[in-house]
Amino acid sequence: MKLPILIHPDPRLKKVCDPVPDLSDDLRTLAKDMLETMYDAPGIGLAAPQVGVLSRLIVVDCIKDEESTPRPLIMFNPEILASSDDLSVYEEGCLSIPDQFADVTRPEAVKVAWIDENGNSKEEEFDGLWATCVQHEIDHLNGKLFIDYLKPLKRQMITRKMVKLKREMARA
Ligand SMILES: [Zn+2]
Repeated sequence: MKLPILIHPDPRLKKVCDPVPDLSDDLRTLAKDMLETMYDAPGIGLAAPQVGVLSRLIVVDCIKDEESTPRPLIMFNPEILASSDDLSVYEEGCLSIPDQFADVTRPEAVKVAWIDENGNSKEEEFDGLWATCVQHEIDHLNGKLFIDYLKPLKRQMITRKMVKLKREMARA
């Protein structure tokens, strides 16, 4: 089932999310629905607060090439264990901030631990786009958006555009 995605500014996108204590069928269904919503958007990552659920859950799949096999990852309680000193810059966007893009600098590689949909502990090192995406999504769980890395003026400009967009959507 496709879920509605919250658009910034929304107080739920600014909250620190709660750890998931135990997996349940409801949470697994939520994760599947989030993947469906992400692919449909289309996007390469989605965090639970973006669909109004304040739990530490993200989904990602950075395989954008139609010919390649998808690699959907469901991550409960994802945690960054280590970050590289090397940095990389990506032009980021966000499904909660439609059609707005800006360069963000982050560690080039990160080691991440999480619980998968079967309750297994996982650990993996990501680099490139995967590293950027996972960091972007984990930020969401801490109430942080990619525009928070931008200069205040640019951030305010984007926020004003989103306020206008939401007004137009409410009227439609
Ligand atoms: Zn985002």
